[in-house]
Amino acid sequence: WGQTVNADTVGPNDALKYPDSLLTRRANACLLMLARNSDVNDAVKSVRRLEDRFNRKFGYPWVFLNEEPFSDEFKMRVSNVISGEVIFGQVPQEHWHQPDWIDEEKAKAGRDKLVQDHVIYGGSVSYRNMCRFNSGFFYRHPILQQFKWYWRVEPDVHFHCDIDFDPFLYMERHNKTYAFTITMYEYHATIPTLWDTVKDFVKENPQYVAQDNALGYLSDDGGKSYNLCHFWSNFEIADMDFWRGEAYTKFFDYLDRTGGFYYERWGDAPVHSIAVALFQNKDQIHFFDEIGYEHNPYVHCPSGQAAYTQGKCACDRQRSFDYDGYSCMRQWDRIQ
Ligand code: GDP
Ligand code: MN
Repeated sequence: WGQTVNADTVGPNDALKYPDSLLTRRANACLLMLARNSDVNDAVKSVRRLEDRFNRKFGYPWVFLNEEPFSDEFKMRVSNVISGEVIFGQVPQEHWHQPDWIDEEKAKAGRDKLVQDHVIYGGSVSYRNMCRFNSGFFYRHPILQQFKWYWRVEPDVHFHCDIDFDPFLYMERHNKTYAFTITMYEYHATIPTLWDTVKDFVKENPQYVAQDNALGYLSDDGGKSYNLCHFWSNFEIADMDFWRGEAYTKFFDYLDRTGGFYYERWGDAPVHSIAVALFQNKDQIHFFDEIGYEHNPYVHCPSGQAAYTQGKCACDRQRSFDYDGYSCMRQWDRIQ
C-alpha cells in the first residue's frame, strides 16, 4: 500500500479506505475472558471468532482469568488458536469467595427464595462470586494493572461482522468510557434493594453525579424508581480507569457492604450500568451498532445498511434484539 495511516484520524466509516493493517498505533488494551477449565471448548470458539473477525489484524493481547489454576489442557488449546500474546492468571482468593462477614444463614435464605421463584442461577453461590468479581475486582488483578482498556469476551459468543476499525482507539478519540451492543431489562427479583442503596449512596455523595448523566435511561420517573434497564455486560469495552477511580471505588464498596451480592443476586451488569449512567456524561457511553454480536439467546445485528455490507455481516437483521419488546434501546434512544 505504500502508506501509513494515523490511527487517530480513522473511524468506523473509513474501514474500506484504510485497511487497519496500516494503523500506526494500538491502544493500551487487552481482550479479557473469565473462564473455568470446563469452558475450554466454548472459550476456543469465542477466541477463534474474535481473532477471525477482528484481532487477526490488530494483535491485541488476550488475558484469561480463573479462580482456579488453568489446566495445561486449557492453556494449550487456547494458545493454539491465538497468534499473539496470551496471559493466564489466577484470581486472588480474597477477590472471589463469599466474605466471612456475610451472614450465611441470611444468604442461604436469599438463595432459597430465588430458587423457589425459579430465578436463573438463584441458588448458585459461584454465580454470585462471579458477579461480585466482575463488579468490583477484575480491574484490580495484577495482570490488568498494565492495561487501561479491556474488551470482555465470554465463552461461546459470536462476532457476526468484520471489525475493520479499532474500537479502543475509537473510544479513546471520542472520550468514551463504556460501550455496549445489547441493552435489556434485569429481573427485579435479583436486585430488590439495589436502587434504594444507589439512592442512599447518591444522597451521601452527590458530588459524583455527572452534570449530563444518563439517569433518563435508568429511570422513567426522574429517579424515583429503577426501570431495570442495563447494558448486557457479557460484551463490554470499557476504560478500567473509571472502575479504578474514586467515584466507582466508593460506590462499589458501599454496595458491597450491604451484602446484596449474596443476600440477593446483584449482577455486574446493573451495577456497571447504573454507575456509568450516573457518574459519567451520557455521551461517554457508546453503542457500537457496527459490531454484530451474539450471546445466547440474543443477537445484535447492525441496523445500518453500510455497516452491514461493509462488515460482511453474517447475522439476520430480522432477529436483531434492538427493538425486541425486552430491549432497552427505546430508553437509550430517548436520551440521545
Ligand atoms: P451468564 O452469561 O449470565 O449465563 O453466565 P456465564 O455462565 O456465561 O458466566 C459469565 C462469565 O463468567 C463467563 O465468562 C464464565 O466463563 C465465567 N464464570 C461463571 N462462573 C464462573 C466460575 O465459577 N469460575 C470461573 N473461573 N468463571 C466463571
Ligand atoms: Mn454467558
